Amino acid sequence: MTSSSIGAQGRSDVLVIGGGVLGVCCAYFLREAGKDVLLVDQEDIVAGSSYGNAGLIVPSHSVPLAQPGVVGHALRWMFNPESPFYIKPRLELALLTWLWRFRAASNARRRDRAMPVLRDLILASRDLYRSFAAMDDMDFGFEERGVLYLFNTEKGLREGEHEAELVRTIGIETETLGKQEVDDRLGVNTTVVGAINYPQDTHLTPASFVRALATRFQAMGGKFRPNTRVEGFERDGRKIVGVRTSKGTLEADEVVLATGSWTPKLARDLGIKAPIQAAKGYSITHRRPEGVPEIPVICAESRVAVTPMGDTLRFAGTLELAGLDLSINQRRDEAIRRGPPAYVPEFDTADMELIEVWAGLRPVTPDGLSLLGRSPRYDNLTLAAGHAAIGMSSGPASAKLVTQVITGEERFMDISLMDPGRFG
Ligand SMILES: Cc1cc2nc3c(=O)[nH]c(=O)nc-3n(C[C@H](O)[C@H](O)[C@H](O)COP(=O)(O)OP(=O)(O)OC[C@H]3O[C@@H](n4cnc5c(N)ncnc54)[C@H](O)[C@@H]3O)c2cc1C
Repeated sequence: MTSSSIGAQGRSDVLVIGGGVLGVCCAYFLREAGKDVLLVDQEDIVAGSSYGNAGLIVPSHSVPLAQPGVVGHALRWMFNPESPFYIKPRLELALLTWLWRFRAASNARRRDRAMPVLRDLILASRDLYRSFAAMDDMDFGFEERGVLYLFNTEKGLREGEHEAELVRTIGIETETLGKQEVDDRLGVNTTVVGAINYPQDTHLTPASFVRALATRFQAMGGKFRPNTRVEGFERDGRKIVGVRTSKGTLEADEVVLATGSWTPKLARDLGIKAPIQAAKGYSITHRRPEGVPEIPVICAESRVAVTPMGDTLRFAGTLELAGLDLSINQRRDEAIRRGPPAYVPEFDTADMELIEVWAGLRPVTPDGLSLLGRSPRYDNLTLAAGHAAIGMSSGPASAKLVTQVITGEERFMDISLMDPGRFG
C-alpha cells in the first residue's frame, strides 16, 4: 500500500485511525459520501486482527459470548493449557472490572436483547460483501456455501441443537444433518455423529478484502498514511482539535477511532471508558491438498474453524485473555492442529505445506456489543471498536452506520445498545 502525497500537517474532513476492516470500511463509505478522508495506521493496511482471521461471515454467530453458563465453562477451562478459552491470571484493574461486567452481562435477558442487533449487523454486512464481490476490482474469494458445525459427540450435538434453536428464534435458518448427509456434502468420509448447517453463513479471504477495499478507497481520492502512530489528542472543550502522531499533528473536522484491541489506551487519553480486552486467537494456514472439503466447517467440541480460502486451508481457534500479547504458544498451536482430524481425517496437517502461523487480537467488550457511535464526551469523535469475534461479519454494516452518524443521514438500524457511553 502506498502513502498519499499530502503534507505531514494536512487537514481533512475526517481522520480515520486504524487500517483494519473497521477503519478501511469507514474510510471507504465516508469517501463515497463525498468526504475528504485521511486514513492512518501505526503499521500498514490490515496489520491487526483483520489479517489472518477465519474469514467467516456468520449470522449463526448472532449470540454474544456473554451468555448463561459461559462463566462456568470458562472457569473449568482456565487451568488447562490446551483449552480453547484461557485467562492469563493477573491482578489488573481493567481485567477485573471487565470480568465483573462480563459476568453481569451473562444472562438470558441481556443475551436476548443483543441478538437481534448482531443479526441485523451481520446480515447487512453480508449483503454489502455480496455487492462488493460483484465489482470488477474486488476479488476476495467471497463464497456463499454455508458453514457446517460438526459434532463428534452426542452431547456436543445436543448443545449445538440448543444453540440452533436459539438463533432460529431470531429468524436464522438452520438445518440438522446426519453423518451420511455430512459425508455427501463434504465429499469425504467423516467421523462425526452429525452436523448443523447454517445456510446463510458465507466466507471470504479477509486480508484480500481489506486490501482491495483500501485500494479502491485510494482510487476514489482517499488518502492513506502508513507507519503513522497516533500518540495523543489536543482538545478544546467538547472538540478534538488536533491528533498527535509519530509523524506530526493532524487536523480534521471529525475523528473516527477504529483501533481494535488498542482502543482502551487511546480512549484513556481522552478520558473515555472503553472496556475492551484483547482476546488472542491463532490461525494456521496450509496449502489446500486435493480432496479436502470446499465448505467451511467448525469442529464444535474442539472449537476450531477450518476455512478453505482459494488454494489454501486455514485452521483458526483459541481465545486467550492475555493482554496486548501476540506471542505464539506452541501447545495451543498443536491443540488447534489436533482437533480437526478427529472429525475429518483429511484435515491432518502432517503432509500439508505450511504457509503461515499467525496470532491476532479480537477486541472484546464485556457485553458482546461493539462501541459504535458518537462519543459522549466529544462532538466530533465517533467510535467503531470492540467487534470481538465477529468483526469481519459485522464490520461493513458498522462502518455504514458510522458514516450515517457523521453525515447526519438516517441510520438503517437503531444503534442505541452500542452507545460508546454505556460504560460511563
Ligand atoms: C483467530 C481469529 C479468528 C477470527 N475469525 C473471525 C471470523 O471468522 N469472522 C469474523 O467475523 N471475525 C473473526 N475474527 C475477529 C475479527 O478478526 C476482528 O473482530 C476484526 O478483525 C476487528 O477489526 P478491527 O478493524 O476493529 O481491528 P484490527 O483489524 O485489529 O485493526 C486495528 C488497527 O488499528 C491500528 N492501530 C492501533 N493502534 C493505533 C494507533 N495508536 N495509531 C494508528 N493505528 C493504530 C492497528 O495497527 C490495526 O491495523 C477472528 C479473530 C481472530 C484473532
